[in-house]
Amino acid sequence: MKKIQMVDLKGQYEQIKEQVDSSVLDVINSTAFINGPQVHSFQKELEEYLDVTHVIPCANGTDALQIAMMGLGLEPGDEVITADFTFAATVEVIALLRLTPVLVDVELDSFNIDPEAIKKAITPKTKAIVPVHLFGQAANMDEIMTIAKEHNLYVIEDNAQGIGSTYKFANRNSTKTGGIGDVASTSFFPSKNLGCYGDGGAIFTNDDDLAHTIRGIVNHGMYKRYHHDVVGVNSRLDSIQAAVLRAKLPNLDSYNKARRAAARKYNDAFAGINSIVTPKVKGNSCNTDENTICDTCNCHVFHQYTLRITNGKRDQLVQHLNDKGIPCGVYYPIPLHSQKAYQDRRYNEADFPITNQLVKEVVSLPMHTELDNDQIAFITKTVIDFVGN
Ligand SMILES: *Cc1c(COP(=O)(O)O)cnc(C)c1O
Repeated sequence: MKKIQMVDLKGQYEQIKEQVDSSVLDVINSTAFINGPQVHSFQKELEEYLDVTHVIPCANGTDALQIAMMGLGLEPGDEVITADFTFAATVEVIALLRLTPVLVDVELDSFNIDPEAIKKAITPKTKAIVPVHLFGQAANMDEIMTIAKEHNLYVIEDNAQGIGSTYKFANRNSTKTGGIGDVASTSFFPSKNLGCYGDGGAIFTNDDDLAHTIRGIVNHGMYKRYHHDVVGVNSRLDSIQAAVLRAKLPNLDSYNKARRAAARKYNDAFAGINSIVTPKVKGNSCNTDENTICDTCNCHVFHQYTLRITNGKRDQLVQHLNDKGIPCGVYYPIPLHSQKAYQDRRYNEADFPITNQLVKEVVSLPMHTELDNDQIAFITKTVIDFVGN
């Protein structure tokens, strides 16, 4: 059996090596390292893939979120509602811009921000909602867009973990995540579903004016050379990374399909085990049965395959898997509202029952495009042998 890895970037690289190597060499030979033609071509190809009017590449997913908020003109004191259960980048940029982060609880079955909790957190100062499409599945965008419209709030989708996934609305229309809210961000961090070989990110929007504003912000606030109209940043996707991403983008759907196939095998193996709760495909997806992961649509792209271990032995299981040479991860072990940097007197433990539960129960198993049946069989057997029925 091949050594099991959390993410197998080498195995994936070997399949596209010729193309990656030659296009990276082309960039070096052309010396167009910054904003070269590869960046522009990738931007166009991603716009087409996502069916959005504007993609603005930038340096990483954290910058993408920050720049999206700057582009919307959010100001100190504005309240921005986001999930308590997410990677810290989401709340970090809100705080950095001196906006007020308002963390709210998530749903137990989808791990995503809870629309009811959003409603309760809205005040006259609320200006935006940041849903995170956590682990590769869209948040409840039907509800979130309705709430936003009712209260005149911006919606900024953090699509770092959801690229390539599709949200099916209650009316059966489908939209790729990142094209639903006012603006969206993504990350091309190597382990993400569409990862480059270093750092990278992008902002998406269908709003022409906002896209124009953001194109200036990423470039030092310049709209005309050496005329700095607003305070901007320097945030660029470099040409070598764009070359890598161009080689990978045509494979993104098949990569996500391979992730779903692996998730389906995991789900099948864990079915009926009492202390294991497998991830649910929620909402208005193509299936009526939430336990089915279909082959044909991108309702979940499994950035992570995350179980809940409900018998209190999550930490022992993690130790056991490590002892057996199986990598795994706890995303995330501490609620953001309990982090030193993001504590706020307005928070009340009773407002976060689900996040407080999830941080004790979740474990993410190896998930990538190269997992084979032997590896999955070994992982699932090891988990079940330890957890019991
Ligand atoms: C990875 C990630 C980010 C940040 O992306 P970077 O490219 O590492 O800056 C932001 N939000 C979420 C949910 C992420 O998973």
